[in-house]
Amino acid sequence: MGEMLGLTENAGDYESWLNEVKDALASINMPFEGWQGIWAYDFRQEFDGGTKANEAALKANKFWWHEQNKAIGQDCQKTPNCWLPRDHRGECQRM
Ligand SMILES: [Zn+2]
Repeated sequence: MGEMLGLTENAGDYESWLNEVKDALASINMPFEGWQGIWAYDFRQEFDGGTKANEAALKANKFWWHEQNKAIGQDCQKTPNCWLPRDHRGECQRM
């Protein structure tokens, strides 16, 4: 295939990217270790898709909130895939 726009990846790239994700999650009090073990988010896919670490952390944050809301029967009923809790204020926010 030759070179594909410098997108050669290796395990080290993913690991350092994931460390950035973990830092970002820690900074918003959503520790990776605590949540990923319950509801696994597909970080690998985000990495492969070129998502920035910060964005991936925010997406995982929404995913985990949504999963938790569903688990306790408190997910928003107005819009499918809205990650906010039931009867939240303001506009719905799709994931
Ligand atoms: Zn909503």
